[in-house]
Parts: sequence; C-alpha cells; structure tokens
Amino acid sequence: AETGHDQRIAVIGLGRFGTSLAEELMRRGWEVLGIDSDERLVQQHRDTLTQVVLADATDEEVLGQLALHEFPRAVVAIGSHVEASILTTSNLLEAGVPNLWAKAISRQHGKILERLGAHHVILPEHEMGERVAHLVTGRMLNF
Ligand code: ATP
Repeated sequence: AETGHDQRIAVIGLGRFGTSLAEELMRRGWEVLGIDSDERLVQQHRDTLTQVVLADATDEEVLGQLALHEFPRAVVAIGSHVEASILTTSNLLEAGVPNLWAKAISRQHGKILERLGAHHVILPEHEMGERVAHLVTGRMLNF
C-alpha cells in the first residue's frame, strides 16, 4: 500500500527517455530500479541507479521475481518496441501497480495503452512539439 513517502519507482527501458527520467529521479533523491534487456545499457547504469536489472520485462515471471507489484509507481519507457510496451504495460497493470505511466510513440499506441488502463500516457515527441510551438511564437504562458 502506498504510504505517500515511498519514493521507489521502477523505470522499464533505459533508452534516451528512460535514462533521462531515471537520472533526474536519482538527482531528486528517489530510489530507482532500472530494467532493460540490453546488457550494454544495464552495465552503463550500474553505478548511476539504485538497482539495475538485465531482464525481459514482457516476462511475467520476471516481474513477479522483482516484486514490481510492491512498487507504488512504475514507468514503461519502451517505445519503438510497441509489442513489448503493450505486454509490459498489461502485465504491470495486472500485477496491480497503482500508478503506471507509459510512453507512446504514436497517438494510436497511446490509445491502446489508455485502453489497457495505463494511468498516465506520455507522448514525448507530440508534447514537446506543442511546447516548442509555444516557445517559438513567444507565448510563454502555460509552458
Ligand atoms: P528512446 O527514444 O527512449 O531512446 P525508444 O522509444 O526508441 O527509446 P525502445 O528502443 O523501443 O524505445 O526501448 C527503449 C529501451 O527499452 C531500450 O533500451 C530497449 O533495450 C528496452 N527494451 C525494449 N524491449 C524491452 C523488454 N522486453 N524488456 C526490457 N527492456 C526492453
């Protein structure tokens, strides 16, 4: 159960987005579990995150072993591997993660993640494009 003080978070997928997110959370004093199926990326983060695990996040058994259902928050930062994103999101929701953020690479992908029940869907390219439009037109309000 969430205490409100539990600053643990799982970041699944340590690509550009996941890495940037995980590192910022570490700077803010959070405990970050990073998961990636790419050994090179896991090695790269060994000393920068609280814990890093080499695993296929689509494997339900792996999620159980890592006790991800006990995390109050998780972010699925897998993008272009759409099938892996969908499977991982579905498994984490089934495991009962209470606050799940999922990244999408297209509006259609985002719609699927929403239908699965993801609590927050992020579309980094679309959202950043909108923000840059505000910036270049000099409309700084709501940035
Ligand atoms: P970014 O733009 O953030 O660099 P991306 O949107 O291109 O990433 P992907 O390359 O699909 O997204 O995935 C991001 C990371 O997730 C990669 O480092 C990849 O190794 C990892 N990943 C993909 N599938 C799995 C999986 N099944 N289990 C664990 N990690 C995975």
